[in-house]
Amino acid sequence: MLFGSIEAGGTKFVCAIGNEKGIILEKEVFETLDPESTMNNVITFFKNKNILALGVGSFGPLQLNKRKDKYGYITTTPKKLWQNYNLLGKLRESFNIPIGLDTDVNIAALGEYIYGAAKGLNSCFYMTVGTGIGAGIVSEGKIIHGLLHPEVGHIMVPMEKTDNFIGICPFHKNCLEGFASGPAIEKRWNMKGTKIPKDHKCWDLESYYLAFAVSQAVLMYSPEKIILGGGVMKQEHLFPKIRKKVIEILGNYIKVEEITHNIDSYIVYPVLGENAGICGGLALAIKEYKKWRKKNVPFKI
Ligand code: ADP
Ligand code: ZN
Repeated sequence: MLFGSIEAGGTKFVCAIGNEKGIILEKEVFETLDPESTMNNVITFFKNKNILALGVGSFGPLQLNKRKDKYGYITTTPKKLWQNYNLLGKLRESFNIPIGLDTDVNIAALGEYIYGAAKGLNSCFYMTVGTGIGAGIVSEGKIIHGLLHPEVGHIMVPMEKTDNFIGICPFHKNCLEGFASGPAIEKRWNMKGTKIPKDHKCWDLESYYLAFAVSQAVLMYSPEKIILGGGVMKQEHLFPKIRKKVIEILGNYIKVEEITHNIDSYIVYPVLGENAGICGGLALAIKEYKKWRKKNVPFKI
């Protein structure tokens, strides 16, 4: 059984075919151009591949409320050409199969939940720290949605007392993304994160802000696993710093073994690495396919 997965990002679209076990069999990457050229590439890739369903994770914001007219649209993105674009509609026009859509970070969370670091658990918090910061939350086996979808990148974090950076978020300046995203690091230190030495103060500050986000996630959602991915988290030395700071921030209030004794396996890098999103897309496709079968294939005795 073959399924399709799309990770639609601001700079690239990753398309893949995989099987029911979430194993990727074929993958191709297209540059994100205007919607028409990009979607032509995507549609050509999936044509005649005999996929049973498609799972899509996209940059946003997205309208994911099925009761709204613009369900399946990319809405107010700063990427002008993609503003108000009916992504799901375009795919439905081309493929008469079940199609699931969610945010890029939500499908990465789903990928790690089904196949990766949180496999076998019932919840997880997956945060990506890259060009932006975002998080997907799985609670009681389900990705959390609501009015929109969570926008964890824009939570407020207390400013570190020696920090005098004003933050780069165009909406709030000093939110988590404004302080701790890859571009925020670059702006604050006038140097790309990849070039900053491991013993630079940058990383203490970075782990301070990320630890606040993680601690708030622990307090708000009580996830069984915290997974931190994205370009910035390739700095492996951030992990011990973040773990230490989380313990400090939580102040011995949450007395569970995962935090008090096993925090090294509680706050982790994604097991699927850069494939978290694309594997999550496959998981979403499989989910949609099962839903469709339940509705459409009569039960035979
Ligand atoms: P995107 O978020 O655009 O999908 P990434 O997750 O790779 O892509 O994030 C890109 C951002 O992360 C850039 O700001 C980049 O400078 C930063 N970044 C990428 N790799 C590293 C690294 N190894 N160390 C520090 N920062 C990094
Ligand atoms: Zn913000």
